[in-house]
Amino acid sequence: MKIKKGISLIDQHDKNFLYGGKFGGNFIPETLKKPIDDLTKLFAKLRKDKKFLKERDYYFKNYVGAPTPFIKLENLTRHLGGAQIYAKVVSEANGGAHKIYNATVHCLIAKKAGKKYIVGDTGAGYAGKMLSMAAKKFGLKCKIFMGAKDIKRQRPNVEAMRKNGATIVPVTSGSQTLVDAVSECMRYWVSNCEHVHNCIGSTVGPNIFIKICAWSTAQISRELILQIKEEFGRIPKKMKLLNCVGGGSSAMGFWNEFMDTDAELVGIEAGGPKNSKLHAAPLTNGSKIGILHGAAQYVVQDKEGQIGSTESISAGLDYPGISPLHCFLKDAKRARYTSASDEEALKAYRLVSKLENISPSLEPSHAFSEAIRLAPKLKSSDVIIVNSCGDSLKDKDIIKKRLGSYVR
Ligand SMILES: *Cc1c(COP(=O)(O)O)cnc(C)c1O
Repeated sequence: MKIKKGISLIDQHDKNFLYGGKFGGNFIPETLKKPIDDLTKLFAKLRKDKKFLKERDYYFKNYVGAPTPFIKLENLTRHLGGAQIYAKVVSEANGGAHKIYNATVHCLIAKKAGKKYIVGDTGAGYAGKMLSMAAKKFGLKCKIFMGAKDIKRQRPNVEAMRKNGATIVPVTSGSQTLVDAVSECMRYWVSNCEHVHNCIGSTVGPNIFIKICAWSTAQISRELILQIKEEFGRIPKKMKLLNCVGGGSSAMGFWNEFMDTDAELVGIEAGGPKNSKLHAAPLTNGSKIGILHGAAQYVVQDKEGQIGSTESISAGLDYPGISPLHCFLKDAKRARYTSASDEEALKAYRLVSKLENISPSLEPSHAFSEAIRLAPKLKSSDVIIVNSCGDSLKDKDIIKKRLGSYVR
């Protein structure tokens, strides 16, 4: 399995939409074929349309707030004594995380398709919150499918979505969480696709959703490559790009422009509680290939091949599957994957927010944990860049509970 140079990773699939011959694809019911085909054709046209690209860039700048800062973490670097550590502060984007890129692009596509309604799924509520924000901005009516269990445990996000004018549809099937919300949302879309556009919140699902999402978050690395050249005069020889991975959209966006460079790409999955067998790290733990939400990928599963239970302190990473693009990068050995436990993420959060003026949420704290582990073993000519893709404010309650206090 090999990554081709000079071709965007999202386009490196075969005629069955499989990456590396086995990841991804469109494992969908017959009824989904037409809406997926239509969206595939529309997106193929739009991504080559200069006017559309101009519009995207305009809203990335004037709505999302691009470019986000690229800063050196001097205190952390000094404290650890080794590699130079930098952060791409994507949490400065409107809404406080990278999900706004995908939500914005989906709203622009929905407008082009002449749709007045947009639907989306959400687990912890951030994808839903960002989509409801963007829908409000672009004047689209918005419905968010959310597991009944998640609605109960993610009150503040539910309130935020309602404030943005979105309707929340509780999903009471299966485990009543994200996995079921995605399925239910797709079902609704099939029956209403004439007027409704569907947005999936990460680089997962049928191929077209993976493509749109990765294409949207790629903005992060388009900015970063310029910021790196300005800081170092070139791309440093020994550079590691660290990103947490749930579904994998922030990592794809962070790495996209560096695919053909020598940069080392490191993905950090959610290892779960230290003394528990549960985790949300299918790549690190050698999970088998299964089909989830219409795509083949490594999936956490039980002995019978059913979707397995996962656990992570970080709601954004608590997903049993992972993008087929990451499965492809792993098997082609272009990226390396590891995990950090809940406790390690909390420790990293505490150190980074104590020493620096950034306060990463628990998802990027998993990546910072790996930076803290690696930096002392490296030389000052080595560069580590962490995607600080979310702000800790959303994790205030859990941080307070686990660490005794929350200071931002
Ligand atoms: C949703 C989320 C993630 C996980 O999703 P990816 O698709 O893997 O990026 C990570 N960090 C934050 C802050 C999130 O909101």
